[in-house]
Amino acid sequence: MERPRRLLLTALLLGVPVAAAVAAGWAASRAEADLKESAAAQLALYNANLRAELERHAAVPLALAQDAEVKSLLSSPSPERVEHMNRKLEDIARALDALALYVMDSKGQTIAASNWKTATSFVGENFSYRPYFRKALDQGEGHHFALGTTSLVPGYYTAYRVLAENRTVGAVVLKIGFDRLERAWGPGQEKLLVTDRSGVAFITNMPDWRYHALPRRLPIDLPLVPEGTSEGLDVLPWAFGGASDRIALEERGGPRSYLLTSVAMPGGDWTLHSLTSLAPVTVRAWVAGLLAAALVALGALAAYAIALRRSALVERLVMQEESRMELERRVTAAKADLRAAENELTQAAKLAALGQMSAGIAHEINQPLAAMRSFADNAVVLLERGRADAVRSNLGEIAELTDRMAAITRQLKGFARRASGTLGPVSANAAVTQALLLLDSKLRREDVTVESDLPDTPVWVVGEDVRLQQVLVNLIGNAADAMRGCPVRRVRIALVVADGEALLSVADSGTGIAEAALPRLFVPFFTTKEAGEGLGLGLSISHGIVEDFGGSLTAANRNGLPGHGAVFTLRLKTTEQPA
Ligand code: ADP
Repeated sequence: MERPRRLLLTALLLGVPVAAAVAAGWAASRAEADLKESAAAQLALYNANLRAELERHAAVPLALAQDAEVKSLLSSPSPERVEHMNRKLEDIARALDALALYVMDSKGQTIAASNWKTATSFVGENFSYRPYFRKALDQGEGHHFALGTTSLVPGYYTAYRVLAENRTVGAVVLKIGFDRLERAWGPGQEKLLVTDRSGVAFITNMPDWRYHALPRRLPIDLPLVPEGTSEGLDVLPWAFGGASDRIALEERGGPRSYLLTSVAMPGGDWTLHSLTSLAPVTVRAWVAGLLAAALVALGALAAYAIALRRSALVERLVMQEESRMELERRVTAAKADLRAAENELTQAAKLAALGQMSAGIAHEINQPLAAMRSFADNAVVLLERGRADAVRSNLGEIAELTDRMAAITRQLKGFARRASGTLGPVSANAAVTQALLLLDSKLRREDVTVESDLPDTPVWVVGEDVRLQQVLVNLIGNAADAMRGCPVRRVRIALVVADGEALLSVADSGTGIAEAALPRLFVPFFTTKEAGEGLGLGLSISHGIVEDFGGSLTAANRNGLPGHGAVFTLRLKTTEQPA
């Protein structure tokens, strides 16, 4: 959980601003390049527009300089000629919408002017100091922008020399204003201005900027601002920020950034400038930045969601693995406990068996020993008395008792005996018949009915005939013992063959086996019989014998409950009939 969250935080705190900054920077530079390109194109248009405006009327003073009336006026002026010329100039100026149109003599004296009727008439004024006049006289034509000294109206002057008989007699001058142009530029998208060689704006669509000088420390490369020329004039309210072509203007609602584009006009005296708003660049940068930020944030969130799911999955797997391992640990511990308990139990069972065995053997042997002792003592007395018959009889009793003791030790030896190793086909039917024969007197004595259900043909099993008989004698004998005192005493012996196995069962109608005794029946020396009646070795020996045969011996109660008698089942491997 922790790692994905930390990564998400990092992505959001670091990735989002970085992506936003990078995207905004990239978009801004792209937008700025676009803006620069379009501003330059726009400026070229304005430039063409301005030049067309200036040259629109340049032909008029040139034509007038060739005019015969002008020449004759300048050669020999007369009041009539002056008056006639005044009217003519007035008409032409009105038609051109020019500020003034006038004729000067070679000394700079104004002879006739379109504004002859007005208070600021040029007639009689001397403008010989004006650069356009001097240039026209020297080179044939002169241009100049200036603030009119008489009219105080700025204008663009175009002057042409008048020649009469190869002699300079004067000049014709046209002065036009820029109202029309400024109106055409209007308060458009761009802020436009034209500066003269002193860096003073004289044409602009920003009325407040007229006659303001360019800032002295304009960082762009403009060869227009000779020191001192614009001294005393107000400076344009421009602040420079960052790049050299970035201008900040204080406007309503705070400072705004503009891109400054400049182009020198042919002749080199004038420069046209445009200021284009950088707002679209900012907008594009913002949009790109926000988009990038949103994208990165979305990506980070998606990655976070995926990581969360993954880590939840991993956690679940880890938990499953842990609980599996815990289970394994517990099982291992439980197994170890079980093994320890089992060991203890086996040990205890062995000790208990040993105790029982000792008690059993001691009892079985002590009785005959004690009897033998008394028979021997008696024999000594009888011998002294010379009763040889009685002594013989005692000695006979002693011999019988030793036989009985021998029988006991034989039984013990049978328990110790190992498999002979020679197993062969044995007839199970024959073994049953033989065992019943051996037990005949006992069964008759105890009035036991035997029902045997044996196949007609012999069933051949793997085993050894004497020991198989021993097992059957034991089982049938036990059955008879278990029915002692019961009203019905019936033993049922059945033999069937199924799946390569012979099933031989011995069922009785006796007391059955107590639930607690069932698991211990085959343990050596387990017996419920009175001391002297059984050693508790029969079933354990039988069990060992049957296992040697590769079969099994199991015990159960009939109907699954004690009280209905017991049933012992022998499973033996069937085999081929002997050749
Ligand atoms: P023993 O006959 O000397 O007691 P066994 O090993 O032959 O030794 O038998 C052990 C015990 O199994 C018997 O003491 C008896 O409690 C029980 N048992 C054996 N066969 C039967 C049977 N058919 N019905 C009830 N209990 C039986």
